[in-house]
Amino acid sequence: MKVAIFGAGVAGLSAAIELVDRGYDVELYEKRKVLGGKVSVWKDNDGDSIESGLHIIFGGYEQLQTYLDRVGAGENYLWKEHSLIYAEPDGKQSFFRKANLPSPWAEVIGGLQTDFLTLRDKISLIKGLYPALAGNEEYFRSQDHMTYSEWHRLHRASEHSLQKLWRAIALAMNFIEPNVISARPMLTIFKYFGTDYAATKFAFFRKNPSDSMIEPMRQYIQRNGGKIFIDGKLTHFELNEDNTINRAVLSDGYAVKADAYISALPAHSVKKILPKKWLRRQYFSNLYQFTGSPVANCQLWFDKKITDTDNLMFSQGTIFATFADVSITCPDDFQEGMGTSTGGSVMSLVLAPAHHLMDMPNDVITELVIQDIHDRFPKSRHARLLKSSIVKIPQSVYKAVPEVDKYRPDQVSPIDNFYLAGDYTYQRYLASMEGAALSGRQVAEKLHARVKS
Ligand SMILES: Cc1cc2nc3c(=O)[nH]c(=O)nc-3n(C[C@H](O)[C@H](O)[C@H](O)COP(=O)(O)OP(=O)(O)OC[C@H]3O[C@@H](n4cnc5c(N)ncnc54)[C@H](O)[C@@H]3O)c2cc1C
Repeated sequence: MKVAIFGAGVAGLSAAIELVDRGYDVELYEKRKVLGGKVSVWKDNDGDSIESGLHIIFGGYEQLQTYLDRVGAGENYLWKEHSLIYAEPDGKQSFFRKANLPSPWAEVIGGLQTDFLTLRDKISLIKGLYPALAGNEEYFRSQDHMTYSEWHRLHRASEHSLQKLWRAIALAMNFIEPNVISARPMLTIFKYFGTDYAATKFAFFRKNPSDSMIEPMRQYIQRNGGKIFIDGKLTHFELNEDNTINRAVLSDGYAVKADAYISALPAHSVKKILPKKWLRRQYFSNLYQFTGSPVANCQLWFDKKITDTDNLMFSQGTIFATFADVSITCPDDFQEGMGTSTGGSVMSLVLAPAHHLMDMPNDVITELVIQDIHDRFPKSRHARLLKSSIVKIPQSVYKAVPEVDKYRPDQVSPIDNFYLAGDYTYQRYLASMEGAALSGRQVAEKLHARVKS
């Protein structure tokens, strides 16, 4: 049986891995020249790796880690010390370190020792966040009608902790502010963070997400008989009388014939290829409820090291929300002799919120980033900036605003030979690499079950 998959992000690649393993004849079409979607990385003219975005793997990413093992990339990422590090003005840092105890004591004791929260914050958090720690999936779902800020205030947790601790988490997770993000995903994260020590540790790719994950996935799929086509942009479907797909047409006019078709496109792209006739069905019209979060990633190459922190960092009151010196965190890339690196720091910074940056010239954005870098890393004032890059993604992951979760579609559509995969489709994670991997597994399992029945 032949399956055509459109979109070679983590979701499309995961679906392809599952389906080649089950013996399907798989063809994967990607519109760009690089695979990986939001995880893609490419080389610029100097041979430097340009990332779509800084990516980390959480301990709780069981599905993604299973795929990494399966494709022979299980050693391609490195766990870092288990702590949240906040870069403060003038080179200071503050920490939220989990104590080496079983959960929830690891978090409670760790939280009490944290230096950037006041005693009032700590007491208000322990009292206020208890419903999140004690809650289950059903409770989190029931809180989807309000923003996280509303929930936080309702539970009398302190304003300072909202701005200092949780704003950074909201911006890191979904690139939107706590007064925009739904309470639901934030509470889900607290639950993990507060009750499962191992789930919240994080790792960096040894090299970069493309070389360490996407390339091994590509090789695995092709080794197992799958075919991958780049420059393969899906434009529309031609339908049979019963509304099922007869063939999929690419931008160069080539028509793909298959027994089943999977869209692993992001939500904003899938809307562009849906036949109008399908929109009468709620399953498809619901897709118009999703809007992508704008985000940008900036990379700065310095001639000297400006930090020695081997971990993810957060900061508050700066143009960047999360960042890392990838010359330290990713030891197999960005090193002296590779591209333009002279062994100095290579900062990879996620800029969020970013709605106001989308139309701003890149050199102006870079100036703003450098000002904040000088403020947070005084050593940078004496380092030479060798080069910089900015990647803007106007519609990245879907905005997890209140009341949108209920519109996430199942992978099985009402059209017999059409399926959806992608981080926005229904699975237990928010939009993330793990969410995309889970959607890939679920679509393959559901397609297989339908074929067998
Ligand atoms: C800056 C940034 C930082 C992030 N950091 C993290 C992190 O640290 N950890 C984490 O877990 N997640 C992170 N994410 C989220 C994660 O990258 C995404 O959730 C995940 O990669 C989405 O995968 P996907 O396959 O669902 O979609 P995508 O990656 O969007 O893949 C969709 C693919 O479809 C292709 N496509 C689109 N239209 C067509 C068409 N018409 N025909 C054919 N192909 C088409 C696209 O080119 C793309 O390759 C981050 C995202 C960004 C933007």
